[in-house]
Amino acid sequence: SDRLRERFERELNEAQRLAATAPDGFNLILAGPGSGKTRVITYRVAYLIARGVAPESILLVTFTRRAAREMISRLEGIIGPKAMKVWAGTFHHVGNRILRKSARAVGYDPNFTILDGEDQRDLVKLALEDAGLVGTGRYAPKPATVQHLISFAFNVKRPLAELIAERHPDWIGWAEQVEAAAAAYERRKRASNCMDYDDLLGLWSRLITENEEQRSALGRMFRHLLVDEMQDTNLVQVELVEAIARAGEGNLTAVGDDAQSIYKFRGAHYDNILKFPERNPGSQVFRLETNYRSTPEIVAFTNASISKNASGFPKTLVSAREGGPRPVVVATADAYEEADLICQQVLDWREEGIGLSRVAVLYRNHHDSILLQGELAQRGIPYTVRSGMRFFEQAHIKDVMAYLRVQANPKDEPAWARLLPLLPGIGPAKSSAIRANIMASENPIVALESPEAMKLVPVKSKGEFAAFVADLRSIRKAEPESNPSAAILAVLKGGYPGVAKARYEHPDQRLADVEQLSVLAARYDSLDKFVADMLLAGDVYGMDSLGEGAEPDGEQLVLSTIHQAKGLEWFRVIVPRLVEHGFPGDRALAESGGEDEERRVFYVAVTRAMDELWLTYPLMVTRPGQGSILTSPSRFVTEVDPALYEVADIESENDLAWTEGPRA
Ligand code: ATP
Ligand code: MG
Repeated sequence: SDRLRERFERELNEAQRLAATAPDGFNLILAGPGSGKTRVITYRVAYLIARGVAPESILLVTFTRRAAREMISRLEGIIGPKAMKVWAGTFHHVGNRILRKSARAVGYDPNFTILDGEDQRDLVKLALEDAGLVGTGRYAPKPATVQHLISFAFNVKRPLAELIAERHPDWIGWAEQVEAAAAAYERRKRASNCMDYDDLLGLWSRLITENEEQRSALGRMFRHLLVDEMQDTNLVQVELVEAIARAGEGNLTAVGDDAQSIYKFRGAHYDNILKFPERNPGSQVFRLETNYRSTPEIVAFTNASISKNASGFPKTLVSAREGGPRPVVVATADAYEEADLICQQVLDWREEGIGLSRVAVLYRNHHDSILLQGELAQRGIPYTVRSGMRFFEQAHIKDVMAYLRVQANPKDEPAWARLLPLLPGIGPAKSSAIRANIMASENPIVALESPEAMKLVPVKSKGEFAAFVADLRSIRKAEPESNPSAAILAVLKGGYPGVAKARYEHPDQRLADVEQLSVLAARYDSLDKFVADMLLAGDVYGMDSLGEGAEPDGEQLVLSTIHQAKGLEWFRVIVPRLVEHGFPGDRALAESGGEDEERRVFYVAVTRAMDELWLTYPLMVTRPGQGSILTSPSRFVTEVDPALYEVADIESENDLAWTEGPRA
């Protein structure tokens, strides 16, 4: 329509417009940060729908669920409510939706449970026991290590044995047992009707590679596929979208920037985007070279930084914005002063009219934020944290979810493994024996009340045990299938609050969290959907947790790891803790290509800033076992031409509390 055409002309530059309206086929948009890649892909979806493509036949894959929500609401602003029908979400989110429909084709029940990281680790531990690998001494492979290896092997599509030989030569005697454990892990998942995050991709891709009927059905279902942040996909994900596109009409638009590839530890590789044209002959490549996000001063700094990388595809990036201040580099006496400085700076900006939510502190590691969180709380500055312990990873939330999970999927062994030891007198051995009963039975309640199970319960715990079974009955009576909220309230009316009071600190706060969970659950009309959604939210793709005193919709300073800040932007950005041995970290530097990967992480951080960028570092830090040691500034700062930044002299400019002396 004319209105849409006008809008395209107003909102996109010519290169962006060409990419957004590219002909059908395989298209790649390879461009730097702030060049409008995400904007272009959003407009491309609008363009496709305006041309008559049904919104429900478009699959838009984003890196986070938040990003998906944002793109859909932008799209709604362009084309109206039709936008809601587009399939949008992360790979895992979409995989879950598809497998709920087609689980039987890969040997699962559609009511499967999704395992989070901790459940996975517990199951791997059992699998290691199956393979005889427990109690072989303190040098035995750790469950977390094996879990990561299994997942990594899957994501980079390499044989487990090869990775073991490469990374754990000291495991010589155990390699075969670890492989046996991987097979046992697989069996245990299937017996429990549970999938881990990788299965959401792996089984989805098996639907395509092994099943002709499913392949053509998926091809018909998704006539157009679009992927944002393609540089952080792994081989499984890339092959998945390309296979669906080929099975269908051959329409795939991939968008990304190899210089922002920062998920190597999860099996992502920037080659997956660079080799797109090679893998898909005849594809069109688009480049965007105008940066609309950041001032020329910030772009000059970030260009200079990334040019130090040996690897990567060279790109030119020119700011479209007016000039502003150069990035500022500040050294503070120590980490306390650094936290202090950040608080002071944030307050000064608020005075200037820059609200807290327009400012972000982006750090390399979550623990870099702990001191700052303390300082913010003390000063009553509201903040929100996009990293660290997530709502759904907390013990009490997982307990309550386990009550619901066994209702949805009675064979969910990891959930039983969480619930049973909540009862007094039930240790690991008894829990395991009772679970074996449940797994062998049709009805878990019958199994729990069987003489074999009752024999295992110590006399003094019989009362609690009976009460637990009664709770399971009343949760069932609350019809959890259709009303997950009532089921959670039933958990709160049973024995669980007593358990929480006996086991946890701050039980009242925790029970209040559970009430909040029931409010969230009230929005769902199916237990399966609720449980799956909550487990997916506990994925790496973050939920926010509010700092003390922060209101859900109020103005809050954003604290985030750099990895969680991908694709986003703020008026003012502060990157703290820029010291050698911190950022870049020693562990990263020890790996081949590690320095370049760390520099890309730094690049992602600094390219989030629109108007002002502050880089801070403490001159002294405390390291466990080493006491206070002097630092040197990160190479990521010192390697950049000093003409491109300003060094702030805080003693004269700010009235910082130097004289307060060291704090405990
Ligand atoms: P990243 O690599 O960080 O994900 P990106 O390439 O996806 O960045 P966008 O987030 O789409 O970039 O755009 C960056 C900023 O520039 C946004 O605020 C966007 O609204 C703005 N922008 C993009 N294109 C234009 C344009 N043609 N005119 C005005 N503003 C634009
Ligand atoms: Mg983007």
